[in-house]
Amino acid sequence: MNETGLNELATQISGCQRCSLHTGRTKTVPGAGNPNAEIMFIGEAPGQREDDLGIPFVGRSGEYLNYLLNLIQLERQSVFITNVVKCRPPANRDPEAEEIEACRIYLDQQIDIINPSVIVTVGRFSMARYFPKAKITQIHGQAKFVDKRAIYPIYHPAAALRNPALRRDMEADIKRLLEVIAQVKRLRNVEITSNIPDKDPPQQMALF
Ligand code: SF4
Repeated sequence: MNETGLNELATQISGCQRCSLHTGRTKTVPGAGNPNAEIMFIGEAPGQREDDLGIPFVGRSGEYLNYLLNLIQLERQSVFITNVVKCRPPANRDPEAEEIEACRIYLDQQIDIINPSVIVTVGRFSMARYFPKAKITQIHGQAKFVDKRAIYPIYHPAAALRNPALRRDMEADIKRLLEVIAQVKRLRNVEITSNIPDKDPPQQMALF
């Protein structure tokens, strides 16, 4: 059911001309992963390799994201990964506000269809969707719980590749994701369908 909805959406995205990014794309990159995922990662925009293949996070950033997921024994195919814009910006520039707004209808629908328990915002642009005035340096690794769903901001892997000093924070944040998942499990009173090992009861986390 979810898979059908996501596939129909991907077909719509493949023909989309809602913003100027459609002119430079090779392939649209709608998102990939488990259509019934309990954890959804939302990044910024496709890069060159993603644009070539139509798959998110397959370049160097993707390799580092895979490494982070491996740290917590989270299989990539158990989560869903997408971006705030589905077409590559020229020369990998940041997506512009009007492009993010034009593409928002697709991300909104993906979230509605998948209905994840945890949304991990990866980088500044997806963070701004939920924390419009926040600075990622101040709120990374802190969850906000909204309607029994956790929104969890982390740095973008590209930032850690540019600045290796951020890797320690990124790795600590991804490990803390296990605590967030445990909290959402209790809030929703459901089992998260992944191979995540059970954790000890989490410490009280900062709520926004
Ligand atoms: S980035 Fe989004 S809104 Fe813009 S053309 Fe691509 S799919 Fe459409």
